[in-house]
Amino acid sequence: MEHTIKLKNEKAFLKKSYPVPLALRDKVRSEIRNMLNMGIIEHSNSQYCNPLRIVMKKDGSVRCCLDARFLNNVIEGDNESPPRIDEVMQKYLNKQCLTTLDLTHGYWQVPLDKQSRQYTAFIFEGHLYHFKRIPFGLKTAGSGFMRAIRLALGEDCDHFLTSYVDDLLIANENFNDHLKSLEIVFDKLMKNRFTLRITKAKFCQPEVAFLGFMLSPQGIRPDGEKLSKILNFQEPKNRVELQKFLGLCNYYRQFSLNHSKYIEPFRKLLSKNNAWEWSEYYSKAYEDLKENFVKVIQLSHYDNDKTFQLQTDGSDVGICGVLYQVDEEQNKRVISIESRCLIPAEKNYTTTEKELLAIVFSICKFRVYLIGRKFDIITDHQALTFLDRTQFLSARLCRWSLLIQEYDFNVKYCNGKENVVADFFSRNPNHEYVEETSQQIMISTLSCYHEGQSNNEAMDVLVMICRLELDSDLCTDLEKIADMQNNDEIIQQTVKNANINKNHEYCQHKNIWFHRKAQNDHWCLIIPEALQEPLIKAEHERLGHCGVYKTYNHLRKFYYWRNMNRAIKKYVRECDLCQRVKHLGQAAEGVYEHVYSEMPNDLVTVDFYGPLPRSIGGLQYIFVVVDAFSKYVQLYAIKRANTETVLRKLINNYFKEIGKPKRILSDNGTQFTSVNWRTTLEKEKVKVIYSSIRHPQSNPTERIMRELGKFFRIYCSEQHTRWGKHVKHIQELLNVTTHSSTGYTPYELHFGREPDEKIRELIEFPKNMPISHELKLTLAKENLSKSFKQRQKQQKSKSKIVYEIGDKVLLLVPHLSSNTDRVTHKFFHLYEGPYVITQSKGPNAFVLSHIDDRDKIKGTYNRLSLRKYFEATNED
Ligand SMILES: [Zn+2]
Repeated sequence: MEHTIKLKNEKAFLKKSYPVPLALRDKVRSEIRNMLNMGIIEHSNSQYCNPLRIVMKKDGSVRCCLDARFLNNVIEGDNESPPRIDEVMQKYLNKQCLTTLDLTHGYWQVPLDKQSRQYTAFIFEGHLYHFKRIPFGLKTAGSGFMRAIRLALGEDCDHFLTSYVDDLLIANENFNDHLKSLEIVFDKLMKNRFTLRITKAKFCQPEVAFLGFMLSPQGIRPDGEKLSKILNFQEPKNRVELQKFLGLCNYYRQFSLNHSKYIEPFRKLLSKNNAWEWSEYYSKAYEDLKENFVKVIQLSHYDNDKTFQLQTDGSDVGICGVLYQVDEEQNKRVISIESRCLIPAEKNYTTTEKELLAIVFSICKFRVYLIGRKFDIITDHQALTFLDRTQFLSARLCRWSLLIQEYDFNVKYCNGKENVVADFFSRNPNHEYVEETSQQIMISTLSCYHEGQSNNEAMDVLVMICRLELDSDLCTDLEKIADMQNNDEIIQQTVKNANINKNHEYCQHKNIWFHRKAQNDHWCLIIPEALQEPLIKAEHERLGHCGVYKTYNHLRKFYYWRNMNRAIKKYVRECDLCQRVKHLGQAAEGVYEHVYSEMPNDLVTVDFYGPLPRSIGGLQYIFVVVDAFSKYVQLYAIKRANTETVLRKLINNYFKEIGKPKRILSDNGTQFTSVNWRTTLEKEKVKVIYSSIRHPQSNPTERIMRELGKFFRIYCSEQHTRWGKHVKHIQELLNVTTHSSTGYTPYELHFGREPDEKIRELIEFPKNMPISHELKLTLAKENLSKSFKQRQKQQKSKSKIVYEIGDKVLLLVPHLSSNTDRVTHKFFHLYEGPYVITQSKGPNAFVLSHIDDRDKIKGTYNRLSLRKYFEATNED
């Protein structure tokens, strides 16, 4: 009864894992040991690797889940589908004794065959493991489980037993036979080590609910309770509500012979000439209409050969799913409808989250129909059509994506008009939310997560998931890169010459051309001319309008074209926003004292940014912690800049997530000179040191402070109090872009690996020579001391800018902070304009005029208030 995974092709794949926060690593280590001991996983030397997701359980322990989305894409479907429900039912007519059993989630109980195990590999702390048992989340897990159960129970049970995924039904004509049957089943289950959920078992009943039907010696009928719930919503309170329900009924009129008869009584009420008066008469007619509607839609027998369609909708009050099939006449045959109200917390979800909640809810409800089959999800929310490709950054979305990854479905978009039924029921949900108990597999997975945002640790796990997205238009283009390269004359000419010269700088891999600067350098994708500027624009903006150095270093990790650096320089110099928000040059940098640090977690520097306009939750300061070696930055938005607050952040967050440093450097601010600060850190065995009073800039957080100002001017110059929302995003941008003094991104220096890049999923790169983490650290050390010397030199060689009449310039605007207006001078754009210089009054004073009307004079300004404005031009 081993389960086999078949891949569409045997191409090896390697998906990077999300970094596991330090705070959780011990727990993950011990869970991995557990799984090894239990025989769930074993060490592996697989060519495949899936991302590992760490999920918090309620009791504080963790669960290691496979993010099987990529694997699921390349797995061959499994044709072991569940039996027809009505056939199952027919088999049990006239049985007096009925027992239903429920197997606890048994995926781990089913072994994987040796060959298949390699596909389930994942990596943790450099060690590769793979599953020996079916992992959760595998697309074929349900089918595999059903097959295993069938094999375990054998054919000799067939005449009294039916298994439907994890539901078992045992039926006999009399009690004695029934006891014997039960014994056989228990024996077989025990031999094969399947476990039952005994609290859910129903023994020797004359009537049982099974798969949404009621079974009894009298026959089979749909589970009445369930049906009445479908239409358990209130009477219409006005004409609009009535019209909506009639519209819904109308949608199904093809199934109803007497449709008009049921509609007729409402004709008068619908007329605008009559007042809305709901009476006993209408109440009765309304009940009749509903009853007829139930008959019409109730549980068409489904066709085993037809695809299931699941239409879902989420509204502000409820969520709904309609399961149907399309028959030969293109009629939608409804199999079942489920809906429920939203609980208060869910009402705050974003639209995407509500729509996704509707999908998750419906899939759970219709599990018996959907598991082990291919089906379509029809939704009117376009964002969800990218469901399986999307990287979910919220804990909730991530959890849901894990929940539904074992199902095999396509998401299709329909517009709102086609979604009449689901739309209606999501607005008129038929019952309040009750804690689910029937879908145990779902719930057991669900319970691994903490609900809500109260649990910071779980949230942080997901915040740590660091992957760099690409602009979606660019992705579309990059997918066609081979064709674009073929149509680019310059590339064709270059590679032709390269081939003749047997040059090792170019290679073609899977039809795509790559370039490298030297034999030991890494391969870069050659970018056709048409894509060059869009690529610079997208990446420069995504990385928070970073400067030439960071933009170039980021792009050259993956891309190449001739004169790339020049193009980037030109683009950044002419970027309108950059000119308005950045300080001129680096002159403000001041003199650095060289803060000596040789490795991550040796020395961190701390400082405050603020006070800032009070943001959501009363936040007023940012506590900035920077690792002096790796430059890894942590930003904590806090309410009060006092010793207690920052000690809490350090000890509860920083030490656990990033690491405990040997030394902490700060200025002489009262928060850092307090007794509490010194003694607490002493107890933690962290040495407290201070920057010299004469050179406050010797604290390297100064540089971050300037960067923060720039980011906030980009993201919230319009509404200063919104800064709190951008803090974590800015932190990420600082950590994933190359730092000029080390030549590496803080992220890779600190954690020893690079963040995942979307581009690697789109395009397969030729193999690069790996650079070890140790080598990177050594190189970074050299760069650090080099950059220190360079910086000193640079400061002397600043040349004076010459302004001439006719030059376009931006004008420095002084801004004031104001507590009452909740604004800070730091967040306004620095410059406005552009203006044109129309007159010079001596070497340092210039008259500025408006560009479109040069007679209109703005005023006379000192050269220190001006900066040259560069317009985007087409020539190089
Ligand atoms: Zn820019």
